[in-house]
Amino acid sequence: MTHRKALPGIWRRFPERYRLEGNKCKNCGEHFFPPRIICPNCRRDGKLEGHEMSKEGEIYSYTIIRSAPVGFEDQTPYVLAIIELKEGTKVTAQITDVDPEEMEIGMEVEEVLRKISEDGKKGKINYGYKFVPKS
Ligand SMILES: [Zn+2]
Repeated sequence: MTHRKALPGIWRRFPERYRLEGNKCKNCGEHFFPPRIICPNCRRDGKLEGHEMSKEGEIYSYTIIRSAPVGFEDQTPYVLAIIELKEGTKVTAQITDVDPEEMEIGMEVEEVLRKISEDGKKGKINYGYKFVPKS
């Protein structure tokens, strides 16, 4: 996939990036993020409805990124983690405001809105969600 083609996808997912908007199956009670079109458990019997995911969860697993992709070089080292939200759904996000050496599995975190990247020449700043250790 080229970078140019990737961009519209980001904008289509705009609401999710800010609000962790997922959905929930009224039939089996399972939550999904990103939202699913069909409940994998119930298939045709599933009844999906919008659900704003909780902003709290705990570290399920993490990795410390020391060699970042283009545009993120100035942020290394940083922590990329899989967070298990209260609903049991897992999301991948950057953990910020943390010393990478202090990361541990099970650490409680909460969502914050932060700058994700800066589009240098155009001065466009992209925001999205990150997580910070819960105070
Ligand atoms: Zn279901």
